[in-house]
Amino acid sequence: MYGLRLFMAFEIRERDLLARMGKLETKTGAVETPILLPVVNPSIQPISPKAMRDEFGCEALMTNAYIIRKRFRAKAAEFGIHRLLDFDGVIMTDSGAYQILVYGDVEITNKEIIQFQEAIKTDIAVILDVPTGWGVSQQYAKHTVEETLKRAKELAKVKSRNDILWTGPVQGGAYLDSVAESASKMGKLPFQVHALGSPTPVMEQYLFGTLVDMVVTAKQKLPPDRPLHLFGAGHPFMFALAVALGCDMFDSAAYALFARQDRYMMDTGTLRLREIEYFPCSCPLCTRACPSEVKAMSKPRRQEFLARHNLYVSLAEIKRIKQSIVEGRLWEHLQIRSYGHPALLSALKTLRKYADYFESQSPVSKSSGLFFYGAADLARPEVVRHAKRLKDRYVPPKNAKVLLLLPQTRTKPFHKSREHARLIKDIGRKLGQSRSLIHVCTYSAPFGVVPIELDEVYPLSQHEVALPLDNETIAHVAEQVESYIARSRFRKVILLNDAETWNNKIASAVRRVCREGGFALTVLNPAKLWNKRAVNSLSTAVQKAVGE
Ligand SMILES: [Zn+2]
Repeated sequence: MYGLRLFMAFEIRERDLLARMGKLETKTGAVETPILLPVVNPSIQPISPKAMRDEFGCEALMTNAYIIRKRFRAKAAEFGIHRLLDFDGVIMTDSGAYQILVYGDVEITNKEIIQFQEAIKTDIAVILDVPTGWGVSQQYAKHTVEETLKRAKELAKVKSRNDILWTGPVQGGAYLDSVAESASKMGKLPFQVHALGSPTPVMEQYLFGTLVDMVVTAKQKLPPDRPLHLFGAGHPFMFALAVALGCDMFDSAAYALFARQDRYMMDTGTLRLREIEYFPCSCPLCTRACPSEVKAMSKPRRQEFLARHNLYVSLAEIKRIKQSIVEGRLWEHLQIRSYGHPALLSALKTLRKYADYFESQSPVSKSSGLFFYGAADLARPEVVRHAKRLKDRYVPPKNAKVLLLLPQTRTKPFHKSREHARLIKDIGRKLGQSRSLIHVCTYSAPFGVVPIELDEVYPLSQHEVALPLDNETIAHVAEQVESYIARSRFRKVILLNDAETWNNKIASAVRRVCREGGFALTVLNPAKLWNKRAVNSLSTAVQKAVGE
């Protein structure tokens, strides 16, 4: 009999946002995720599978079991898929469900395609699902979910070997309720891998916001210890988004399809060959040829050139993403990629809807500092987490009666900055023992309120912020300050107002909440924020407040 061991195939090594870096075990060997599986069509192939392995270092590829069965049935069954393609890495086969959807073929059953994938000894297989597609009714979407589920259950009765990883596709298309139902039911069946088919228009028309909704909905219901494959995510400029959402595997036919249309991929977008005067790439091909030479090539040679370049760019982006995960800087990478296209930036903004989910899933401790560029970063898990923890877990020192709010300084941790240190020293000198009646907090972007006791805790002093601040960020910080004051109930609040940086918004928020809560308030508006006179009048105000 074939191997009896049922794989617990996926081991996670690093995480960042919803992304995981892991090892997926197959009967041919282990691959590291996130991974790109170039799609190989044995009939038309600009790069041989062997070259993919030897020259490009591809550990895995994807091919279509339906097409293989149609054209190379006997040979594939006799030699196995690895010998047929001349590829000794990991092979994933798709079932051909998509071709059936597009071409309306119905000549094959789920049972036949399951048995065929076993016969050709594929490593990762897919049942014959029913893709939901796009522009369909909700009723039809539900039908695809149910029918796919029925076929998924059929697998257990049909399959005869235990060494193949089986993929359970999630359907539902843009109907998120159906996606949730599909993911939840598929997740209960004994699959080793799951997959999400995103309808072609989502990719072609750059509906990345919809993609975010679909992937996050599926992720929330799928078992976290199984990798998620995203079908048809071909362009490198969206890999970072897909990985950040928790997709572990992709297949790409785009490198070849784009080449056929003389399209040159970049990690930020696409160029048409005829537009190119300089190759903005340092792959082995682009460093050796100039665009005019490539334009003059015969169609097949040109196509091969472009397919190779496109594949290099795609694989390089996966490496960049992995490095970002290791560094804990996937958000920054995603941020940079988001500027490749307005639709990607829209998707980044869509993440805000799921900020709490991202926060609950993202690892807590990282080693790298945070770069804060603007309002979109307010959805970062670290920012959400600080607000949450401050609210749910943090209690200000018990005997503190007066809240002293200071503006952020460039140097961090704040209490060690020259500005704060001088003031705190002055207050200590004036107050002596009563110093403990004062609770010092910094209002700062993007975190909002940073109590002095916490300001060395990661990442409250390990971040850089782009100034001037945008209105949304200012509003977020003002809201944080307001709710901190409202729930802490100090006898008195003293605010050192940095009117310029905060456009007076912090002062108005503090005034409002103090008025509503009946807290005494002193606002200091010095002409120069941190000069001797300002520090002196501030410490005098503190001294006075303590004496009241
Ligand atoms: Zn290149």
